[in-house]
Formats: sequence, structure tokens, C-alpha cells
Amino acid sequence: MKFVYDFTEGNKDLKDLLGGKGANLAEMTNLGLPVPPGFTITTEACKVYLDSGEEPVALRDEVSSHLAALEKTMGKKLGQPDNPLLVSVRSGAKFSMPGMMDTVLNIGLSDKSVQGLAKQAGDERFAWDSYRRLIQMFGKTVLGVDGDLFEDALEEAKKAKKVAVDTELEAADLKKLVTKFKKIVKAEAGRDFPQDPREQMDLAIKAVFDSWNGDRAKLYRRQERIPHDLGTAVNICSMVFGNLGPDSGTGVAFTRDPASGHQGVYGDYLQNAQGEDVVAGIRNTVALAELEKIDKKSYDQLMQIMETLENHYKDLCDIEFTIERGQLWMLQTRVGKRTAGAAFRIATQLVDQGLIDEAEALQRVNGAQLAQLMFPRFDEQAKVEQVGRGIAASPGAAVGKAVFDSYTAVKWSRSGEKVILIRRETNPDDLDGMIAAEGILTSRGGKTSHAAVVARGMGKTCVCGAEELEVDTKRRRMTVPGGHVVEEGDLISIDGSSGKVYLGEVPVVPSPVVEYFEGRMHAGADDADELVEAVHRIMAFADRKRRLRVRANADNAEDALRARRFGAQGIGLCRTEHMFLGDRRELVERLILADTEVDREESLKQLLPLQKQDFVELFEAMDGLPVTIRLLDPPLHEFLPDITELSVRVALAESRKEPHENELRLLQAVHRLHEQNPMLGLRGVRLGLVIPGLFTMQVRAIAEAAAERRAAKGDPRAEIMIPLVGTVQELEIVRDEADQVVAEVETATGTELKLAIGTMIELPRAALTAAQIAEAAEFFSFGTNDLTQTVWGFSRDDVEASFFTAYLEKGIFGVSPFETIDKDGVGSLVKAAAQAGRATRPDLKLGVCGEHGGDPESVHFFHEVGLDYVSCSPFRIPVARLEAGRAAS
Ligand code: ADP
Ligand code: MG
Ligand code: MG
Repeated sequence: MKFVYDFTEGNKDLKDLLGGKGANLAEMTNLGLPVPPGFTITTEACKVYLDSGEEPVALRDEVSSHLAALEKTMGKKLGQPDNPLLVSVRSGAKFSMPGMMDTVLNIGLSDKSVQGLAKQAGDERFAWDSYRRLIQMFGKTVLGVDGDLFEDALEEAKKAKKVAVDTELEAADLKKLVTKFKKIVKAEAGRDFPQDPREQMDLAIKAVFDSWNGDRAKLYRRQERIPHDLGTAVNICSMVFGNLGPDSGTGVAFTRDPASGHQGVYGDYLQNAQGEDVVAGIRNTVALAELEKIDKKSYDQLMQIMETLENHYKDLCDIEFTIERGQLWMLQTRVGKRTAGAAFRIATQLVDQGLIDEAEALQRVNGAQLAQLMFPRFDEQAKVEQVGRGIAASPGAAVGKAVFDSYTAVKWSRSGEKVILIRRETNPDDLDGMIAAEGILTSRGGKTSHAAVVARGMGKTCVCGAEELEVDTKRRRMTVPGGHVVEEGDLISIDGSSGKVYLGEVPVVPSPVVEYFEGRMHAGADDADELVEAVHRIMAFADRKRRLRVRANADNAEDALRARRFGAQGIGLCRTEHMFLGDRRELVERLILADTEVDREESLKQLLPLQKQDFVELFEAMDGLPVTIRLLDPPLHEFLPDITELSVRVALAESRKEPHENELRLLQAVHRLHEQNPMLGLRGVRLGLVIPGLFTMQVRAIAEAAAERRAAKGDPRAEIMIPLVGTVQELEIVRDEADQVVAEVETATGTELKLAIGTMIELPRAALTAAQIAEAAEFFSFGTNDLTQTVWGFSRDDVEASFFTAYLEKGIFGVSPFETIDKDGVGSLVKAAAQAGRATRPDLKLGVCGEHGGDPESVHFFHEVGLDYVSCSPFRIPVARLEAGRAAS
């Protein structure tokens, strides 16, 4: 195996092997851009080292021969006393992990070669400055010396000299500092700073390998879900010097604004400085535009290169560069990170520039970004006082009074207060408080912490791991940097999209993107928001490309109308149980309690017109589009009062000798209906088979509503869906009854209704016998929530808060199977059932309802297995449309 690649040998597609930095250095080299020559040690070498504790045997020789070639190119030898070659040893993994791993500059300097460098550059000050930087960086990252010791010594030197910045230190001062630094190394590391340049380089390479497993790096990978076994590459790059005086310097730049997407000059430049100074913020940088005045030739060249890079990568790039005595050098580039809004704008801008096509534009954005843009946000114009920043764990903008325990959260929210629950970290005991709070803030834990997982599941704003906040739950207060104390009851604001924490109440404004989907803001209008314009166009690209149709889960006309505005092509799931609540509860109670057939029929008769009216409104709202209505699904006890509450009522009445006959009957019914496992009990199709007249009443209501809409010249397209079917026999019985009722209504009204009857596939047995079930079903709708519960044997209501965090941390799954479909398990059943169903009935319509219908990754899966549509909550519809378009392009 080859462990070392010269920059001329690699290219941008070799990120797995060369890391992002190495692959792009190679790409730039081969584009003919000015990159200091060098070579890259592969991630494979790192993996061998990390697995065995030793570098692969062949590595040393390969490094030697590449170094020899580099020395030949450069016409000098590493650390050669009179004319030294210096290099940087730079980490660089496949995914960028900014600041997480190590880099050492100026390798090759020693007591001898520092003289050579001084002579070579004709600048003694510069040589000693470079040397002290090497000892400092090497001491810290390779030998593990506390970096503050060097910083303190540097401060002292500046104080002694009475100067403010390091550039004012002279050669003699820096020489003294080097002596001091070497003493620190000796004292702290128990060894001398190595004078042999090759030893410096080899130790630095090892240190970079080791930094892959540093605590910071590990934590970052967990948060960003980067696999732990990728390893890092190591780049050996000949040094160029930005610290050679005022005609030298170093900077960073973006080819366009990573926040807005606007093209222009964005970046920072620092004169007379070496790379790490810019980010470390030790001196004030100037805006990149200033460089035009400082060094017009380099500036023009940089602009030219930025254009080349954009045209080549066809995307926003960020870059690091250094100018050495008027000569520009490129030290890094990569496709740059950007905000969600910028992603949409940049994608459309690149289409307009002719750099990418519509299909490619769809790959440049994603549903998670769109979802982020749809959350309400803090008013950007508002004056804010930011006091901290954590991990953006669950998006949204939340304002409320600080509370430090779950009990207070619940108590205060009951009395109408908005609260933010602040904890060091949360655990299942905090659940009530999390539900009661507007948002959750923790000072510990990452994206997979309990707080983050649960908050995302609930769609609640959450910032976690805001480490600089000191949370003291005992004293119910939090200390922010600078010492200000937030007491219980103080207002704070948290932004789950940026992770920022603010003091006081930051005003919230609705997202312009939602205003657009709602039809309150229009693309193409004079004052249209640029973002809205971009979203509008991307959605059009997606709608043109996608094959999957997108329907909504909606139970009433209001939701149906919103869903239509958001682009729904029908309703995939109307849950009729929502029509049994409120003031109809009494009727439902009567139905459940009915002792005689007459009683039961009477209550059904009263429910019929109410149900019918619901459907009439729904059909009207969705006129011309399919509406799938699920017959009653939940266990009946859900419609009865809580057992404890009822027992108390009965006991109270008894002791007061008040009449309580009705309560007693209810209580008996609750006891009778009580099940150990209601989710596996009397529900779904089983209700229809056990309670005479219930399903037929619902079918009649649907049929009559459809007939009424027909009479009104409407175009109702009802589909009747039977839940929780496990065998075709269940479906056949219900279906025969339904067919009969529909026929009756058709005769009575003289209209042909063409109602489709189908079933949910949400039990493993249904999926396994899909071929038979398709005989009696005109459509399947995969109920992936229940299917996930029953395939895994997980109770959705319990597991998320109990052991899912542990499962996520142990890597048993990367994301909850209730959030993203488990392709291998649940997904393979869906796929097989879809095929079996279509084998029986080629025109079988296939859809999915359930949370997965709006989840980006799951949408791609449903596209691949050939479903016809996904159905999701109205707010997820744009996300599903976008992802369906992305899946098809
Ligand atoms: P990071 O991944 O943390 O950005 P880098 O490897 O890019 O680390 O290096 C840190 C800094 O040192 C950057 O500003 C980079 O431009 C600079 N640098 C790295 N190698 C060289 C070099 N050969 N010559 C000059 N500056 C360098
Ligand atoms: Mg860098
Ligand atoms: Mg279900």
C-alpha cells in the first residue's frame, strides 16, 4: 500500500485517503495555483498507527523519499544550517473539524538553522520570531506543555519592553524568549527541545495522528456524527512566511458571503503575521478589501484565483492564503460551510451563472435547512445581549423565564408563564418540565444528549452544552461569562438554530419562508425577500423533478386548507378519532356504555350527522384531491375519563351520599376495558369487528358526505382506510359491510360514488401476507409508526425518554428509528410488502403515513422502493416536496 502522496499526485476526490485539506491542496496544485510544494501522509497510515500503536514500517522510507524529492524541488534541505527548508505538519481529516486537531509550523528550525534562516531572509528578527513560534507550538501540541506558560512568558517580554504587540519585539528580545521557552520545555516535558529536524518532523507527525483521539476531537465527532474510525491525514507543506515584514501577511477569505450568499470580497487580512495569528485574534485584522490598497498585485491575483476556484468547484469556497514579500501563496481551500438561507441563495445564483443545473441545485440544499428556515426567528434588528453559545440541538426561538427544575417549570407554566428550563443536563425525571417549557438550555452534553434527543422528538427549541454558563441548580441561578447572574424568574432567550443564548426578551418574528408558503408573501413582488425568491425557485425545481406525491395528515378543513397552500396533493391520513373529542365525548361515552342494541344504535345515529358534516367540510377543502379517511383506531378507553380521577369522583359521591350511578357505570366500563397493553389490544379493525355498527356508521357518514358534495357539483375523492389489519379475513369482513353501506347510499342518492377501500400496513403479519391482503385492498398505506413499534418491540410512548439516549450513545443506532426509517428492518418489510402487493394488484396505490413521511432520509427511501406518495403533517410538506425532488435528481 502507498502511504504518501505528493501534492501533484492527488485530487479533490481523494478525501477519504488524503483528508479534505490534502485532497484540495493537491487539486489546487494541479490547477496550477501557487501552492507551496509538499506531500500528504494518508489516513490509512494513521489508521495503522492508531490500531497498532506503531507507524507502518514502510512509512518511514516513503516519507524519506518524498522529503528528498521536496528538498530537491526547493533546492534546500530540511533544517540545513546555512539554508534551511522549513515545513508545516498539518492535520486534515475527511470532514473538516475546525481547530480540533493539531498543526505545527516552522519545523526544521534549530539553534543552528535559525542563523541560516536569518541570513537567507536577511532578517534576524523574523528568524527568531519563527523559532520561538516553533518551540511554543511544538512544546504545546507535541510535548504536551501547558500553552499558557509560553503565553505568559510572551506577555512578560512585552511588558518588560513596554510594547503592546508582538511585532514590536526585536531580535534580541525574541532570542531571549527562545531561551526562556526552551527552559519551559525542559522543565515541563523533562526533555530538551529536539534539535534534529527529522526528529521534529517525525514527532509532529505522530502528534497529529494522536490528536485524532484527543478529547476535543472525539467530542466534536460525536456531536457531528462523524465516524470515529476514519483517521486523519498529515500534510507536510513547505513553509511560506507571512511574518517577513509589512509586505507580508496572512488571511482568510470566502468567495462569497457565507451568511447571505452575496458575491463579493469577504475575509480578513493581517499584515506581518503567521497563519494561526488571524484566528487567534492577537492583533486586529483588516477587511480583505483593504488588501487592495496594501498590495494591489497580490489582491488582483487573489481575486482571479477566487474566481478560478468558484468556477472549478462550482460552489462557495473558503480559503487560507499567505503573502510572502509580495508573493501570494494558497494554503488551503474547501467548499465552505454556509447558513441554511445562504445555501438556497447560492444554489440559485449558481444556476443563474450557468455553473450548475437544476438537479445539481437540488443537491446543494436539503430538507433540514428548509425546516430551519421555517421556524420563527429572533428579530435581527433587535438589540441583544448575547451571553453564551452552546450546541444548536433543536431549532426555534424561545423566550421565557429561567427556571432550574422540572417542578417549577410545570408549576409556572400552569399559571400561564412561559419558561425556559435550565439544567446542567437533563434526565428522564425532567420530562414534565421539558414538556412545560418553551425551550431547554443545558450546560453539558452534545447533540445526542438526553436533552437534545428528547427536545427534537418534541419539536421543542433546545440549546445544549453551553459550557461557559455555570448552572447552579441548588441555588437556582446561572452565572454567565463576565459574572452576571441569571436568577430564577429572569427572562432569557435561546436560539436553537444558532445555539446562542441571550439575556432578556428578544422579539420573535415569523419566518418569511412560512409567510411565503402561507401566501402572505409573494415571490416576484418588488419587495420580495431574496431568500423567499430562492426558496420559491428551488421548490419549483423539486416539484418538476419529483415522482413521489406529497399528501398531508390533516383531520379538519383548516389544516387541509393550510396543507393545500403548502403544496399538499391530498390527504394521506385523516384520523377520525379527533372527531370524537370535545363535546362529542358524551355521545361516545354513551356508545361505549350502551347495554342494549337500541341504546347503541341511538348513539350511533346521533354521531352520524356530526361525522358527515366533518367529512363534507374536509372534501370541500380538498376538492378534486384524494382524501384518505382512517376508520376509528385507538382503544376505546382513551375516550373515557382517567381511572384515578373517576375513582375519586365515585368515592367522594359515595361519602357524601350523592347520586353517582352514571360515574359508577363509567368506572365499571373503564375497568372492563382496561388492558395491560392497549396498543396491542382492542383497537383498529378489531373495534370494527367487535362493536356492531361503529365502522358502518363511519362509512355511511363518508358516503353521504361524498354524495352531498357531488350534488353540490364538487369533486370528492374519498378513500376509506382500515387500520391495524393483520390478516385478509379481517379486511374482507369489514369491506363487505362497507361495500353494502356504500351501495345503499348510492341507490338512495342516485349517485355513483367510486369510493376506494384500502388498508394500513402496520403489523408485521400484514406486511408478510401483503400478497393476500392486496386481494381485498385497493391501496396500502404503510403506518410506519406502529410498524416500527411492532417490528422492534419498542413502545414509542416510553422508549424515547428511557433508554434511547443510551442506545444512541452506544451507537446501536445513529438516530431514533421513529425519526428516520430503519431501512434494514422496517424498511425491508415495506419494500417486500410493496412488491408483493403490486404482484397481486398491479395498480395498487402505495403510500406512507406516519412521522417518517416528513423525514428527509426516509423520503429518499420511499422514493427508492417505489411508493406513490408520502403523507406528513402540514408543516413538513415543503420539506417532503424538496426531498422527493432531491431523491429523483
Ligand atoms: P487548521 O486546520 O486548524 O486551519 P492548518 O493546517 O490549516 O490548521 O494550519 C494552521 C494555520 O497555519 C493556517 O492559518 C495555515 O494557513 C497556516 N499554515 C499552515 N501551513 C503553512 C505553511 N506551510 N506556510 C505558512 N502558513 C501555513
Ligand atoms: Mg486551516
Ligand atoms: Mg397505527
